[in-house]
Amino acid sequence: MPIIVQKFGGTSVGTGERLHKVADIIERTLAQHSVIAVVSAMSGRVKTEGTTTLLLQAGQRAEEGAAFDAPLASIEKNHLRATGEALSSRALRDEVESWLRGELSWLGSFLEAIRVIRELSPRSQDVLMAVGERFAAYLVAAVLGERGLPAALVDLTFAVPEEEQTVDPGFFRRLQEHLAAQCAPDGGRVPVVTGFFGMVPGGLLRAVGRGYTDFTAALISAGLSRDQVHELQVWKEVDGVYTADPRRVPAARVLASITPREASELTYFGSEVLHPFTMERVVAAEIPIRIKNAFNPDAPGTVITQRDPKSGTAMRATAVTAKGGITVVTITSNRMYNAYGFLAGVFNKLANYEVVVDLVSTSEVSVSFTIDRLDEIRRAKRQLEELGKVEITPGRAILAMVGEGMKFAKGTAGLMFSSLGASGINIEMISQGASEMNISCVIKEEDAEKGLRTVHHAFLEEG
Ligand code: ADP
Ligand code: ASP
Ligand code: MG
Repeated sequence: MPIIVQKFGGTSVGTGERLHKVADIIERTLAQHSVIAVVSAMSGRVKTEGTTTLLLQAGQRAEEGAAFDAPLASIEKNHLRATGEALSSRALRDEVESWLRGELSWLGSFLEAIRVIRELSPRSQDVLMAVGERFAAYLVAAVLGERGLPAALVDLTFAVPEEEQTVDPGFFRRLQEHLAAQCAPDGGRVPVVTGFFGMVPGGLLRAVGRGYTDFTAALISAGLSRDQVHELQVWKEVDGVYTADPRRVPAARVLASITPREASELTYFGSEVLHPFTMERVVAAEIPIRIKNAFNPDAPGTVITQRDPKSGTAMRATAVTAKGGITVVTITSNRMYNAYGFLAGVFNKLANYEVVVDLVSTSEVSVSFTIDRLDEIRRAKRQLEELGKVEITPGRAILAMVGEGMKFAKGTAGLMFSSLGASGINIEMISQGASEMNISCVIKEEDAEKGLRTVHHAFLEEG
């Protein structure tokens, strides 16, 4: 039977009731497909209260020599509650609870060791983070088991072969087959896979970043042969990809489809649709991705697939997004000539400090760019001052309009900027990607919501 890889986000496994929704979805899918379930760590409405965040907090506190009981107690409470809600058999509940308590006690000792040595290495941080996905996978497997659907827990915490020493360009390609081999449906048992995989050289957080479970599911999908996989489904708590973040723009609509490039741009510019690395792997393997809502499983969701960019309603923008926490850095050259040396100098110094730059705009004597890590630029500032005057302006947002159809429409940028102007929003920097599928500008962070609604109204609402 063709396989559907189903990734469940943190919110979708956050409570007993939700764990059952996930089990319903898996059970229904099993009627016609094999399933590989990939799960993220339990989370509430917002990621900042989720298990991964709590684990990272506990690690940081331990490293500082401080008490880590509070985050640990929250993790314990959330998981014990979900266990109590989800499992009806007393014996199974006792078994899961005692497993959880054993793991939590180990976790406490591990954190205590970090507190003693006052060092949280990338590897220790990974070992910590892995706990979240292991707990969630264990719970999902138990819920399936109780329903008479035998499941096999697949823990990828130590799945990366020891001989892998660096994350070189071939690393993930090599890894995908290796991961897929461990997740193959086994004798009718549903593999329930931890969305965490390790130990990645230098740490998963550095190599991939938060939201890594999307990427794990993508690697597994891409590692299976194309004729084995039907699609990758990413189950979240929204109906699909919207024309704008539905939490910020009430008039946002669900898109029936979106292209991989559009989805990448949206994610890069602040809409948490999918982890940015996800698309590349799955698209290379030609596997469709579908985003679906675990709380509304009958809705069709959004398919990420190539489409004719000239088709249908996609003549202008597809979606709009905003990313806050941006800092604009402007460097004005103290020498009016040798412009090529100036730009090269600026970017060399930024590279030395590993500063990641989003938008860039240049004039003859100055260059402005945006970054999202203020601490990085503070370290690089003195070096940059050798080239000219450095101005650092935090508290900004990038507003980006995305759509492959935009290059076929005239006057898009004009309308975007004039509508923002009419709403009294000042535009500080403008950038249009060479591919013409992204027009972005920098505005004050406090204007982001209004900016989103204004652009959404001008381009993405009927009438
Ligand atoms: P998960 O735990 O399922 O991976 P994430 O926190 O990564 O969930 O992302 C889901 C959130 O992304 C949604 O709750 C939604 O509010 C937000 N979001 C931002 N922009 C969009 C968009 N354009 N379409 C859909 N959701 C979006
Ligand atoms: N649990 C991890 C996080 O919160 C990974 C994920 O959700 O994909 O970042
Ligand atoms: Mg996510």
